[in-house]
Amino acid sequence: MRHTRSHTKNRRSHHALKAPAMAVCKNCGASHRPHHMCLECGFYKGRQVIDLVAQKKARAERIKAKKDMMKAQAEQIAPTEAEAASEASVEEAIDEKKS
Ligand SMILES: [Zn+2]
Repeated sequence: MRHTRSHTKNRRSHHALKAPAMAVCKNCGASHRPHHMCLECGFYKGRQVIDLVAQKKARAERIKAKKDMMKAQAEQIAPTEAEAASEASVEEAIDEKKS
């Protein structure tokens, strides 16, 4: 059954989004969700729950190590591709001799 415009508007009057409540971290001053650990420094109630600074540093080092590894691998692969190309040209030359 069709609703009136006022019924629709009354229903939608509760659909507005609210900004999430935020608290200020006492350790680093960043805003975080109340009753939750600060995601910037890993502190909650003045106590370090997770050493996020060390985790971020370790993650950056892992990513760098992986990038270096990929770079080294790419340098290893490039010469082998050149060798494969030269082998292919040799095979082509043999085929031409046969025909
Ligand atoms: Zn913090």
